[in-house]
Amino acid sequence: MDVASAVEIVLWPIALDFKYSRLDSIPDKGIALSIISGSVRNSEHREMAELLRKKSQTVWPLARAPVTVELRACELQGQGGYLQLGVSGRATVVNPQGVYPQPESKVDGKSLTLPEFYDHVYTLDQIITVDYYLPGCPPPAELVATSIKAVLTGDLPPRGSSLAPRKALCDTCPRNKKKPQRIEIGEIKRIHTVEANPDSCFLAEGFICLGPATRGGCGETCIKINIPCRGCFGPVPGIIGQGPKYLSTLTSLIKAERDEDIKEIIDSIDDPAGYFYRFTEPASILGRRVPEKHRHEEEPL
Ligand code: SF4
Repeated sequence: MDVASAVEIVLWPIALDFKYSRLDSIPDKGIALSIISGSVRNSEHREMAELLRKKSQTVWPLARAPVTVELRACELQGQGGYLQLGVSGRATVVNPQGVYPQPESKVDGKSLTLPEFYDHVYTLDQIITVDYYLPGCPPPAELVATSIKAVLTGDLPPRGSSLAPRKALCDTCPRNKKKPQRIEIGEIKRIHTVEANPDSCFLAEGFICLGPATRGGCGETCIKINIPCRGCFGPVPGIIGQGPKYLSTLTSLIKAERDEDIKEIIDSIDDPAGYFYRFTEPASILGRRVPEKHRHEEEPL
């Protein structure tokens, strides 16, 4: 409420019914700050991102590359997998003809349009220039408040910075002190099948905890309720790929001599992409599955 009295809110689609036309009437750079939530998945998202960039002095993505578990799984399948799940892959959807949404349809002689649905999810900074990053899914309320205060007072770090600490989560985790000198993992455990010891480091117990590859600043919210880190604050500074970084950490801790034993432990990770790329798949350095329709084109996407 203090923020609301300090600024004029010009657009907030999930809370208030502002019209997009009002945005058009604002002069370029007439908005002090735009906080844009989510990724860019269709042409409407892109249009809004570009318009807000034009109208704003400062742009933050709210969370770095938020992709829900389901969306991430479909992203790996490409556009077809996502549509298949949403349009006909649900028990609650009745669509015997398998009709898929089209950018343009004719109904009773009239033309109806929908935004174009992209093959991939894009992070906001793959589409427009952003000024700061506010990590977390969602970012903690205190971090949002501190960051907005920094904008109001002009006390901001250099552009391009992340508005969060530069340390890895393990550095601030209360369980770090209880880690053994050397962690050796002989078995991968899953948190919904085994109760974790609330006094031990998850990784030392064999649970996948992304703390070593994840930026701190979340207040260890999940750790405090006995849930391992899932990586929502994105990679630690200086690391581009959170997934490969964590994978290399994990594999260096596997305790097995024979190749087949190593393979067995690795194969017991039920959903590797889900663990390692839950929040960063659109920004992955591994790239993406090339959609069928582009596979024979000579030019890379
Ligand atoms: Fe804490 Fe997880 Fe790091 Fe262990 S691996 S110290 S539980 S953040």
